[in-house]
Amino acid sequence: MQTTQFIWFDGKTVPWEHAQVHVLTHALHYGSAVFEGIRAYVCADGASAVFRLEDHCKRLLNSAKILRIKVPYSEDALVAACVETLKVNKLAEGYIRPISFVGYGEMGVYPGSNPVRTIIAVWPWGAYLGAEALEKGIRVKISSFARMHVNTLMTKAKASGNYINSILAKIEAKEDGYDEAVMLDVNGFVSEATGENIFIVRDGIIKTTPWTSILGGITRSSVIRLARDLGYTVEEQQFTRDEVYIADEAFFTGTAAELTPIRELDRRTIGAGHAGSVTKHLQKEFFRTVKGENPKYAGWLHHYTV
Ligand SMILES: *Cc1c(COP(=O)(O)O)cnc(C)c1O
Repeated sequence: MQTTQFIWFDGKTVPWEHAQVHVLTHALHYGSAVFEGIRAYVCADGASAVFRLEDHCKRLLNSAKILRIKVPYSEDALVAACVETLKVNKLAEGYIRPISFVGYGEMGVYPGSNPVRTIIAVWPWGAYLGAEALEKGIRVKISSFARMHVNTLMTKAKASGNYINSILAKIEAKEDGYDEAVMLDVNGFVSEATGENIFIVRDGIIKTTPWTSILGGITRSSVIRLARDLGYTVEEQQFTRDEVYIADEAFFTGTAAELTPIRELDRRTIGAGHAGSVTKHLQKEFFRTVKGENPKYAGWLHHYTV
C-alpha cells in the first residue's frame, strides 16, 4: 500500500507509523466502528477537489448515530479535518478514509464508557477494480452469501462489522475466478456488491435497487441525479438475478469502484459483453463531474490547495 506522511488522530496529526492503538481496542474485537471512503480528484484546471465531502461526513455521523457511537465532532469539524489531512500530506488526488471506533476500555460487548476515537488517513489510490475494468467491464457472480436482513445488521450504516458479510462474498468470488460478487437480499432479490451499488439498463430504462438492504451510496445518488438530468428514466425498484442476465447493460457504482461496467454475471454475457452506450455516457458524465468539468454540479466539489 502507498503510505503518506501523516494521519489525523483525535484532532492531532501524527506520523503515519505512530498512528497506533491497543490490541484490546473494542472495535478490533467486535467490529464497533463506522467509516467513510471519499475521493479527491485533480480537476481539469489543475485545482484539487473532494467529491461530496460534506455528504460523506454527514453519512459518517448518521452511521454512528445508528450504531450509538458518540463521535465528538461536528460535520464541519470532520470536513475541516479531512481537508487538513490532505493538505499536510500534500495529496492533490487520492482516497480519504475517516473511521470512528470504540476504543480501549471495558472488554465486554457493552461499550460502556470506552472512548470513541477518530482517525483520518489519506493515500494515493487509482482505479479500485483496475483501469481496464473501467474500460472493459468485470466478471461477477451471485454470491452464496445473502446480504444481511435489515434487522440483523444495520445496512444503512457504513459499519466495519457489516463488512464481514462483504469479505466472505469477496473471497468466494475472487477464489472462484471472478472480480466481484453480487449479493441477493434474504428475499432473493438483487441487493448490492461487497462495496458497490448495482444498476441495470434494459430498453433504455435504468434500474437500481431501492434503499432497503443496501448502503445508500453517494455515487449511487449522484448517478441517479446525473441520469435523470440527462433525460433518462431511473427506477428504484427490486429486481431478480435473471433480470440482470437479460439486461442490455449493468454497472456498479461506489467511491472506490467509481462507475465500473459489468460484462458478465454467472457466465451469462450482459448485452454486448462490454460497456454499453448508457453506461459509457454516465461514466463520462460522472468523471466530468468529479473533475470539475460539469459546472451544474459545482456544489458537489470541495476545492482545496495542497
Ligand atoms: C461504501 C459502500 C457503497 C458505495 O457507497 P459510495 O458512497 O458510493 O462510496 C456501497 N455498498 C456498500 C456496502 C458500501 O459499504
